[in-house]
Amino acid sequence: MQSTVVEADAVVNTAHVCSPARSFRPVAPRVRLAAALLLAAVVPAITGCPPAQPTTRTYISPAEPLAADVLAGRLGLNLHRANAFTIDLRGYGRSLLIMGPPNPSVLVDGHPLDPGNGIVRQDSQLWVKPALAERIARQLGPVRRPQPALVQVDPLPPARPVRPVQRTAVVVLDAGHGGDDPGAPNEWGPPEKIVVMDTVHHIADALRPYGVRLILTRSDDTFVELDDRVAIANDARADLFVSVHADSHPSKAIDGFTLYIAPGASPQTAQLANSITRAMEPHVGTFRGIRDNQRFRVLVNTRMPAVLVELGYLTHPAEAARLSTTAYRRQLAGAIAEGIVAYLRGS
Ligand SMILES: [Zn+2]
Repeated sequence: MQSTVVEADAVVNTAHVCSPARSFRPVAPRVRLAAALLLAAVVPAITGCPPAQPTTRTYISPAEPLAADVLAGRLGLNLHRANAFTIDLRGYGRSLLIMGPPNPSVLVDGHPLDPGNGIVRQDSQLWVKPALAERIARQLGPVRRPQPALVQVDPLPPARPVRPVQRTAVVVLDAGHGGDDPGAPNEWGPPEKIVVMDTVHHIADALRPYGVRLILTRSDDTFVELDDRVAIANDARADLFVSVHADSHPSKAIDGFTLYIAPGASPQTAQLANSITRAMEPHVGTFRGIRDNQRFRVLVNTRMPAVLVELGYLTHPAEAARLSTTAYRRQLAGAIAEGIVAYLRGS
């Protein structure tokens, strides 16, 4: 059994960089400089991300044009189709259709928007420059998603007061699979075990400033038995347990985020499930509900509020492509951390 205990310390990790995960070969230095200046003002408005800060991680300039999946994430739309000629984003009754050169055009909900020179074709795909992305975001306005249909936890039972975060809550983060067990395969990127490990590290990064005690059931590509994962959490008398997975389905049409709790789970678990779902819902294309119809061992045998999140489907081409990017994984991780903090604060 290999567990990694990460104590909260004074070093606050601010290494988050909001940037497209895929790189774009530069066009011209002057264009890049102008875009960088514009983007410094523009990107926080689109993404809510703070401006880039010095980091020890690989730095990709946020001034670069956006790939279709990144654009979809920033606008809150789903990637319907993207190829060398078209970017087609849809969702919640809204649409964005982008056609590339030689006759570039942009249709926001069917209304044309002058693309200027904001659309570039490279590496057999279309890229959208930040200035155009910002104009599209302004014309599109806020995308209103339907309220999630929470199942099994409605109405919410009265919640027991939870410990404030200041009293050093113990949070166990469980990246599924590992080692010889790759989890779900991914035609478009790394397998489930890698996707979920990276996501868990980003959740830990996001939680560290809150002074919680973090325990990871695995911190690298090793396999840990299910019963050992449970034992790590029970032995630590953890306040909560979050297991992170990615889904697969025989049909490539199935996508979305699902959250599992144990059958007959406690009201506290329901509250944790709701907190995480509320935080995740704006970031995922489809929300498939909170489910309690599976007896997952890590949920049934843990003695604290415990949830298992399925981030999305690695068999759905667009969702798998998004989950294969660091930017999207970091976005989801930030939302999970936000849900955990909200739960610990009893809000
Ligand atoms: Zn899994």
